Amino acid sequence: MLNPLSILLVTVLSSAMAMAVLGSLWRAAIPGVGYWIAANAVAIVALLAFAMQGHASRWLTFVAANVLLALSLLLVIEGCLRFLGRRTRPWVAYAGLVAVLIGISYWTFAAPDFNARVALVSTYHAALYATLAALMLRGRPSNRPRYSYYFLAVAALLLCAGHASRGVMYGFGMLKQSGLMEVSPSNIIFLALGILAPPCLSIGVVMLAHDRLAERLERLANVDDLTGALSRRAFLAIGDALLKASLRSRSPLTLAIIDIDSFKAVNDTHGHAAGDQVLVHFAAFVADNLRVGDVFGRLGGEEFGVLCPATTIADAVALLDRLRGRLAAQTPAELPRGLRYTFSVGVDQHRRAESLAQLMARADGALYSAKEAGRNRVMAAA
Ligand code: GH3
Ligand code: MG
Ligand code: MG
Repeated sequence: MLNPLSILLVTVLSSAMAMAVLGSLWRAAIPGVGYWIAANAVAIVALLAFAMQGHASRWLTFVAANVLLALSLLLVIEGCLRFLGRRTRPWVAYAGLVAVLIGISYWTFAAPDFNARVALVSTYHAALYATLAALMLRGRPSNRPRYSYYFLAVAALLLCAGHASRGVMYGFGMLKQSGLMEVSPSNIIFLALGILAPPCLSIGVVMLAHDRLAERLERLANVDDLTGALSRRAFLAIGDALLKASLRSRSPLTLAIIDIDSFKAVNDTHGHAAGDQVLVHFAAFVADNLRVGDVFGRLGGEEFGVLCPATTIADAVALLDRLRGRLAAQTPAELPRGLRYTFSVGVDQHRRAESLAQLMARADGALYSAKEAGRNRVMAAA
């Protein structure tokens, strides 16, 4: 069972499985998946070419097989670059591939030397694995879980170490061998390690792709599509957490509920699309003017919420009244000609032992008073 040919054929099967799994992610249009599928296809061709050594031309079984196997790893890296949103191509790695092509041809036809070929190819693979590890460690977005990035980085580092030691041992003549299909312990050990590479890489990139899908779903659930503000669900969840934190730290937490004035009239006069533009403008205006740590969400329709941690009611009223005054004084250039709008705010501070819903109800009451009093104003709860 543990002979080079069966190891190669098992790896072919595992690459075919990886293609099937990655194929399930194709329709999700995740950048990089196409490269990863191609990498497995190229690896299958390369491994089958290796398996034909002794039965087909050396161009196919030595030169093409080695260059294609190296290319398949390069395609994994290309996929990771696309996945991470990089536009650059790894030109140095492509130049290295040409060097591998020239070296393998030379040591196959001009001066046949198995050890030199192994040293060259292993060095190239080790360099690519080091690149992959660095890419994963440096490229991980700070807001995503580490697991899949670290999994790939650790796998790449181990494979880099395996290839580097293989390159050194063959390059400096510590191991002597005449061909890939030779049944020697060292050859079997290195090939058996090599058999782990394609499934490890494929599992790693599938985990990356799944994390991207999870990120999309989280965004759909947590961010309002139109305005980019937090969704009601996310706003309430963060509100609950802030409430607990403020109780622990005994620092004040203030809630403001904001409602755009006479918004129905905006829709009726300028059209629903202009109404949407007002919502987008308002959300950008507030987000630009809030402090770090303030939380802003769309509660529904033209109603928004702002949570201000470590802020007293007086400070929150002052902050929102500044915003109100600033908006009331401008005719936003982004909106249809001459369209202006104002908003009203109800504010209250959290009291011990009350729920977020109770706090919201009081702030809502203050908002109602602001509307009653003529709109375009900020009112604190009585
Ligand atoms: P008030 O000053 O008392 O708040 O009056 P208002 O007209 O702003 O309030 P009202 O609740 O009567 O109307 C709110 C309108 O907001 C009605 C609804 O059609 C509109 N609306 C809700 N969501 C959206 C949206 O996503 N886009 C647009 N364009 N309009 C929306
Ligand atoms: Mg309104
Ligand atoms: Mg309303």
